[in-house]
Amino acid sequence: MAVPKFRITCALCRKPIPLSQDVHALDREWKRRFPALPGVLACERCATRTHWRCELPTGGFVDGHIPASVPDGADFDAWSHLLTPGTHKALVIKYPRSGLLQGAESYLRHVEARPYASPQFVARFRAVLTEWEAGADLDPFQEATF
Ligand SMILES: [Zn+2]
Repeated sequence: MAVPKFRITCALCRKPIPLSQDVHALDREWKRRFPALPGVLACERCATRTHWRCELPTGGFVDGHIPASVPDGADFDAWSHLLTPGTHKALVIKYPRSGLLQGAESYLRHVEARPYASPQFVARFRAVLTEWEAGADLDPFQEATF
């Protein structure tokens, strides 16, 4: 079965992420600052050219700041809130709910139907696809756990 071609729409600029680029994953602080984000997957340009500072000049963090998952002291700007980037396929597998919300449904259905995938792996994707089909409000930040 041929692997379906898919294009992820960037959560920030809403343009298709070029296949030649890695995809960046955003954390919940991005969602707090950009409430309309449909998912966590973003293009290189948006992920690396969006700027903010987490700390106030007087010390401490801005109101409502959601701590980044970085070592102490490394949480100071937008880049602190970027998760590990990766290939289009890898990030859709890691964040399947975002994948569905951002244009990768055909690929996720292909993954679910792979004859050689482990039963646990298939079951996780089937659960996400079932949520999607039921019209559930998907949490795009929820990672698939294997
Ligand atoms: Zn973008």
